[in-house]
Amino acid sequence: MTIPNEEAQSVRRALTGWYMANRRSLPWRKTCDPYHIWVSEIMLQQTQVNTVIAYYERFIRAFPDIRTLAEADLQGVLKLWEGLGYYSRARNFHAAAKTVMVLHDGRVPGKWDAFIDLPGVGDYIASAVQSIAFGKPVAVVDGNVKRVLARIFEISAPANQSSSYKIFKSIACDLLDRNDPGTFNQAVMELGALVCKPARPLCSECPVSPWCLAFAGGRPADFPVKIKKLPVPHHHLAVGVVFKQEKLLIVRRPETGMLGGLWEFPGGRIGPDEPAERACVRILKESTGVGTTVRAHLTRIRHAYTHFKITADVFICDWASGRVRLSGPTGHRWVTPEELPLYPMPKSNHKFMNQLMEAVQQ
Ligand code: SF4
Repeated sequence: MTIPNEEAQSVRRALTGWYMANRRSLPWRKTCDPYHIWVSEIMLQQTQVNTVIAYYERFIRAFPDIRTLAEADLQGVLKLWEGLGYYSRARNFHAAAKTVMVLHDGRVPGKWDAFIDLPGVGDYIASAVQSIAFGKPVAVVDGNVKRVLARIFEISAPANQSSSYKIFKSIACDLLDRNDPGTFNQAVMELGALVCKPARPLCSECPVSPWCLAFAGGRPADFPVKIKKLPVPHHHLAVGVVFKQEKLLIVRRPETGMLGGLWEFPGGRIGPDEPAERACVRILKESTGVGTTVRAHLTRIRHAYTHFKITADVFICDWASGRVRLSGPTGHRWVTPEELPLYPMPKSNHKFMNQLMEAVQQ
């Protein structure tokens, strides 16, 4: 589709005017530093603004520039990312910082090709950082942008299908304000966050309602079109908190893959018809080489990841025999309960941490 020039101009003007008057005051909007803008965009990629603010401020305090980040150890970076999820973002960003130090003399590249070659940088991050920090004329496409565009232009391509990405990208490029792409991109995302919300869009307050086809047709709720996703699989796990005198066993996940590089209590999937307690002993033996006995059932937790859900039965166990010989995890430590906060751990483990501490103190 082609947007008539005059219409595109009017939409641009209305959007940026609205944005300048209504934008939220956010810490990353008070800086022109490409590194700081990069940090914020990585965090915002999968996470709500309100959650990101505190993480962003802590991260910038700890790693105020790219050199500090490049010289930090990965565990310290993951610790500051703890709870934010999608840990590959942190690992890739750390690797990208090292690359910037080596290949670009510590300066965030202002050229598209050099920037998008860095670890973890895809089209969204490259478009956001290059337009906001360097004024490059590239359009951003995220969930908010897709929703706004789908409604204004009644786009029937499913927004959650990867093959639709190029359709949204091309429309966003047509609409982009080439004189101030950074402001324009932020304006569309802000409109999606504050006005053109997923469930109840505030069309009466919307600066682009005069050009919005879905509004004119009284059917904003019909857009964006989405294809139905398959039901999310559910796994039942057993997790063992293994005590050896006053120390606890934690293991480190492989650096690549889900929750890579984080520490956790060992566990795994319970087999069909297998009692959870027996599964726990089996899994501990298979994954850590350690023989254990179960002392008590601590709790049951539930947790949802993007592509599956888990229910985990957590057991307090006692070491009974054997030395640690890992199969799966890439490292282990015997730590005191007081030392646990030093290690970056996944949210699912934090869900039973308070109960564990109470059990330890009894
Ligand atoms: S008029 Fe309504 S549906 Fe259209 S862009 Fe604005 S808020 Fe979204």
